[in-house]
Amino acid sequence: METYMKNKAQENEGYFGIYGGQYISEELKAEFDSIYSQFLKLKNDEKFQEELKDLFEHFSCRPTPVYFAKNLSKEYDCEIYLKREDLNHTGAHKINHSLGEALLAKKIGKKKVIAETGAGQHGVAIATAAALLGLECDIYMGETDIQKALPNVNRMKILGANVISVHSGQMTLKEAVDAAFEAYQNEYKTALYTIGSVVGPHPFPTIVEYFQSVIGKEAREQFITMTGGLPDCVIACVGGGSNAIGMFDGFIEDKGVKLYGVEPLGKGEKIGENAASLTYGREGILHGFKCLLLQNPDNTVADAYSVASGLDYPGVGPKHCYLKDTGRVEYKTINDNEAIEAFYKLSRTEGIIPALESSHAVAYAIKIAGENRGKKLLINLSGRGDKDIDFVLKHYPKKA
Ligand SMILES: *Cc1c(COP(=O)(O)O)cnc(C)c1O
Repeated sequence: METYMKNKAQENEGYFGIYGGQYISEELKAEFDSIYSQFLKLKNDEKFQEELKDLFEHFSCRPTPVYFAKNLSKEYDCEIYLKREDLNHTGAHKINHSLGEALLAKKIGKKKVIAETGAGQHGVAIATAAALLGLECDIYMGETDIQKALPNVNRMKILGANVISVHSGQMTLKEAVDAAFEAYQNEYKTALYTIGSVVGPHPFPTIVEYFQSVIGKEAREQFITMTGGLPDCVIACVGGGSNAIGMFDGFIEDKGVKLYGVEPLGKGEKIGENAASLTYGREGILHGFKCLLLQNPDNTVADAYSVASGLDYPGVGPKHCYLKDTGRVEYKTINDNEAIEAFYKLSRTEGIIPALESSHAVAYAIKIAGENRGKKLLINLSGRGDKDIDFVLKHYPKKA
């Protein structure tokens, strides 16, 4: 993994092919370069690694298991396995990079973490890590999202975070990132921006990927122990791309393993109806980095939509854009209805209620099962669906 990253993607530090980079002020560049060099030092520091491992094991219940989904496998005539990131503390993979980023903040002497959140999942994870490590925590969240995700807002408040409502534009994730970034520019001497995915200016995509790569590292070993070999296909949903890149890192050097990233097609193919940045995006710059970006004909940033609010970001991690160009990962789409079907299917065949985000990956596995008879498919089940049950029952009820 290290060699692949260095030789092919990171010849030019902070760039993945033509994507990534740092489209920010000189002042912040100096700060980010300093954060990056401190991160690289800590990465090789035994004590830091021990502390991180301890948090992963005893706080977040790692390693999460790989589970053979027997009933689903039987129904679709192939072997379907789930990497159970839904069993993490706080219910999703986001705790992995949140613990890492908060520990990094603490080690480099910051008093506070600043973050954005959409549906509140990243906000809860970072507020949890901040509470544990004794850091102040400011979470920026669009007012529309606050109204939609009150239980998560309440969790953050209980955990001691300041939830700051953002009232500009659509009042959702994009505006929350804008506001958090602006606040951070005034506070960077005492605070660390703890971004929620493998997005943003260098070095954030690399730092978040590093903390998420534990998923793929564990999954590869677990899979070999269970089955004696590697999976034929590995499937993960892609919002910003952190759970997917963490999973893919474990298998990227295994050329025989097909890797699929699944984007949300939402209501359809038109700009504004989906959040499939890798499929319908054009090269552009958002939030300090270059990526494939959903844009209107006049090059303004388009609204992103998915039934899974954790997936509705108009941009995507720069490394995914690069992996698309190289062809190592295939990026596919699943629409709202297919994701909802998969949500019920996994709940009713395996007794596991998946997050709507993760349901996109499950739906794609089901879609390709027919052409993969007898083969082994490994899905990254990025999170659990507790947060989605009220919404699904209200808008997509289904009889027993
Ligand atoms: C936030 C979230 C995602 C999307 O984020 P990535 O950075 O693309 O992983 C996926 N699944 C769950 C459960 C989430 O909470």
